[in-house]
Amino acid sequence: MTDRISMQMPLVEMDGDEMTRVIWSWVKEILLIPYVDLQTEYFDLSLTERERTNDAITIEAAEATKRLGVAVKCATITPNQERLEEYNLSRLYPSPNATIRAILDGTVFRAPIQAVGIVPYLPHWVQPITIARHAYGDVYKAVELSCADQWAGARVELLATNSTGQTESLLVYDFGKTGAKQQSGDPKTSGQPSSQATGIIQAMHNTDASISSFARSCFTYALSTGQDLWFSTKDTISKIYDRHFREVFEEIYEQDFRDAFSAANISYSYTLVDDAVARVIRSNGGFIWACKNYDGDVMSDMIATAFGSLAMMSSVLVSPDGCFEYEAAHGTVQRHYYKYQAGEETSTNPVATIFAWSGALRKRGELDGLPELETFADNLEKATLEVIATGIMTGDLYDLSQLEGKQKVNTRAFLEAIAVKLDQAKG
Ligand code: NAP
Ligand code: MG
Repeated sequence: MTDRISMQMPLVEMDGDEMTRVIWSWVKEILLIPYVDLQTEYFDLSLTERERTNDAITIEAAEATKRLGVAVKCATITPNQERLEEYNLSRLYPSPNATIRAILDGTVFRAPIQAVGIVPYLPHWVQPITIARHAYGDVYKAVELSCADQWAGARVELLATNSTGQTESLLVYDFGKTGAKQQSGDPKTSGQPSSQATGIIQAMHNTDASISSFARSCFTYALSTGQDLWFSTKDTISKIYDRHFREVFEEIYEQDFRDAFSAANISYSYTLVDDAVARVIRSNGGFIWACKNYDGDVMSDMIATAFGSLAMMSSVLVSPDGCFEYEAAHGTVQRHYYKYQAGEETSTNPVATIFAWSGALRKRGELDGLPELETFADNLEKATLEVIATGIMTGDLYDLSQLEGKQKVNTRAFLEAIAVKLDQAKG
């Protein structure tokens, strides 16, 4: 294999869990290692390794991404109670993505991968809709308290102390106040006096540095892709928090981007989030929709599904200091994994995983001045889409495709068909 493409700098490779971990190794075996002399710093973020290292491995992987600038990540399990038992964990580890995003900061851009013969549920969406998700703070870094048991009836305040020791406190809710709302149907609390009212509390934050870098990366990405930018929040209700996001965007736009946007003939507009949802549905696509962290989480799943399949969505985290982490937008496809473990063949779609790798290799090529590596990434994506266009596809796409003579194949057969196309392109 002497004619494999060489790399100069390694990229960070974060392995993961379940079906996507299986697909990960197949993509490397069939589509990468035969063509590229892969240089990676490997981090195993599987749940077993996170347990073994008490999650230090996740932090090491994020730190390595800061150092090397480019990473590719496999989907990983975010443990819940069932997983705690299934994997015999000592604690409920946080989502690796949340840990990595908190370290790198930045914005996640998610765009559907469109293929011939796969028509979106809304056929007038003729161009992709890219979601730009703010990847720091809000509910993902919130502190929460259950005001039950010894905290039933608590008076909850938000306390700020500045550098001179001056304090300001805001009443969040007084569960002990006469007339505090009590859930009469709740067997745990019904019949108790209102001074023992129970409930829940959450406090969240964001920083100006993070909001500004979110805004800058959205404006920059819009310019680099020549698409209009929309931004939406709920500032009519959240008059300080969401309003501040809106103001930061407007200030940065006016100061640094207005002229460049007019020159590029693209626009920036702010819309209330509910209005944005309605407009997105009626649109033809072809724009970037910047969303706060939670909105982006939810809306990107909606957009991906509406464009066809969760497995046809690319995702990249762009940090303010220029690091790029590529991944598939879907999870570990647990249901397919259990079938695979039972010895059944699965037709799990590897396209988003392939595009995560091609994105990372292209970026590595771009940063290191390796046009051959960039061309390989382009060819890999092209070959993948061509295979689908010829009617060879995994089950999720088979159910959606309008192509006559379409053929459902298992994951390995699909990957092998792509390798055949790649070899034909090579001549
Ligand atoms: P999921 O893995 O995204 O899968 C949900 C369903 O979507 C699958 O059962 C499958 O539907 C379909 N699907 C998703 N990806 C597919 C693919 N590549 N090919 C074909 N069909 C695909 O979500 P989940 O099952 O809710 O979550 C499983 C685990 O993933 C969880 O432990 C969660 O914590 C984790 N997760 C990780 C990430 C991440 O690391 N980025 C993101 C989300 C979830 P059918 O079963 O109908 O075929
Ligand atoms: Mg989501």
